[in-house]
Amino acid sequence: MCGIIGYVGKNKALPIVLNGLKFLEYRGYDSAGIAYVNDKNIKIVKEVGRISSLESIVDKNEDTNVCIGHTRWATHGIPSTINSHPHKVGKFTVVHNGIIENYLSLKEKLKKENIKFKSETDTEVIPALLDYYYKQEKDILKAIKIVKEKLEGSYALGIICEDDLEHIYAIRCGSPLIIAKSKDGNFIASDVPAILEYTNKYLLLEEGQIAVLSKNNVIIYDNNLQETKLKELTFKGNKDSAMLNGYKHYMLKEIHEEDQVFLDTYNYYVKNNKFLNTMPDFKKYQNIHIVACGSAYYVGLIGKYLIEEYADIPVKVELASEYRYAKDFADKNTLVIFISQSGETADTLAALKKVNSEGIDTLAIVNVYGSSIAREAKYNLYVKAGVEIAVATTKAFLAQTTLIALLAIKLGNKIELLKEFNNLDKYIKELLNKDYKKYAKKLFHHNEAFFIGRQVDYALCLEGSLKLKETSYINSVAFAAGELKHGSISLINNGTPVIGIATKEEIINKTISNIKETKARNAYVLYITSRDIKDNFYDDKIVLPKVHDIVMPILTVIPLQIIAYEVANLRKCDIDKPRNLAKSVTVE
Ligand code: GLU
Repeated sequence: MCGIIGYVGKNKALPIVLNGLKFLEYRGYDSAGIAYVNDKNIKIVKEVGRISSLESIVDKNEDTNVCIGHTRWATHGIPSTINSHPHKVGKFTVVHNGIIENYLSLKEKLKKENIKFKSETDTEVIPALLDYYYKQEKDILKAIKIVKEKLEGSYALGIICEDDLEHIYAIRCGSPLIIAKSKDGNFIASDVPAILEYTNKYLLLEEGQIAVLSKNNVIIYDNNLQETKLKELTFKGNKDSAMLNGYKHYMLKEIHEEDQVFLDTYNYYVKNNKFLNTMPDFKKYQNIHIVACGSAYYVGLIGKYLIEEYADIPVKVELASEYRYAKDFADKNTLVIFISQSGETADTLAALKKVNSEGIDTLAIVNVYGSSIAREAKYNLYVKAGVEIAVATTKAFLAQTTLIALLAIKLGNKIELLKEFNNLDKYIKELLNKDYKKYAKKLFHHNEAFFIGRQVDYALCLEGSLKLKETSYINSVAFAAGELKHGSISLINNGTPVIGIATKEEIINKTISNIKETKARNAYVLYITSRDIKDNFYDDKIVLPKVHDIVMPILTVIPLQIIAYEVANLRKCDIDKPRNLAKSVTVE
């Protein structure tokens, strides 16, 4: 989590860095700060809250051409001005994304050397160590190299040293960091949207390398402090990809991109109802494990139902934060699939590294090109969702669901099912354009909600419920429909909202029975189904287009996402930046 940006160039740095921080705000938003070079000094301004609060206390016209900025998602120490980044000790000022796991022992050693600390953060040991070793080595690069070796955990760092005010130094381990060059200056950033206004070309800094940026140049050093080169990459998108473009919120904008995202993902793997060679053959595996966190984990569950049904391969789905500590039953016949939008999810990455170290084959399903998970895995399948800014994932979920359905077809060699994807974009559009506000109006004043469904519909219930709680703060829970009566039905009362999802033809009647059980206890029932039935077990009904089961989840999720959005909107929630959350969970 957290966003870092740095600029050194011909132009005034403050507007560039503050503007860039706004594009990174989705990564963390409890406090923010900048450090810049002015009059041969380093000035630091920090403020609790959003970038706009920081902006209001900064004079953007200050004369500076070197600046680093940070938007924080606190891990160590409350969001306060003191704990906000940048942190300065001695001659070194640092912005940090990640966690230093051994900071306590490092801090103890440094305290014995009479070094004083001001904040509660893990970060502050970094400038302290840099300053300590710089005093010994009298060389910034050498000091950075030594400090890299001392730090355990994850970090992306932007560094300025008082003895060299014309350069920004950067390193990374675990956390992402890109370098970008433009004719008017050079950048470091946690993610591409921060620099899209200036360039769509970037370099991916490798772990162990040190980047040194000046006004006209970027030099990359390898671990032995020898100069090295990085391949320039091009981001396929322009600055509009990261703009609201007239939408009130990014979440809504991103939902309305879903028909295109579906097509982009599908067309990357399939042409004329045949797989392209972008989709490798994974048929040799007898077992599949799917490992992910949050919504990506629910895509994994959808994958389990689809792969087991259409490819007849047993699938185990596990949360990355559990899988990495669990007893390992994967063997050479197992393919372990890791799903992550950002490709930086810390627990997923750690689980992947563990599986790799055991020599078991791994496949990454990610949205961000060149991300850590993509680079670490043996095989990659990219989804084509484009930049996703809203913290609550929507279009990436739909793209991942599309891909996992394609994978089920490939694994099961059921090529004839590819035609079921034809025209799906039209159905997606149709669903996007329906009015869901009328249902949201019935839900938004409640403080709880229940989602029930069976099999693949249960996986969608989990996602619908998560979407609702993360955006609107309604305490919503999802149940496998048959489970409710084993305890939790005691919570259903007069008017309690129950969203019942039933799309799988063979089990629709079973789910309806469970929905009826809640209706008998006076629940308000919203029935979401592909089978239009006239009955009195529901209060409202959303009828989905009748499509094949293999593509059904791609449609089912759409009303769930828009209802969550509309409810959050009615509750006046901060939809794109929900309380306590941040996108791209790069901490464990
Ligand atoms: N661990 C650091 C802190 O709590 C950095 C967190 C972040 O990545 O925003 O300040």
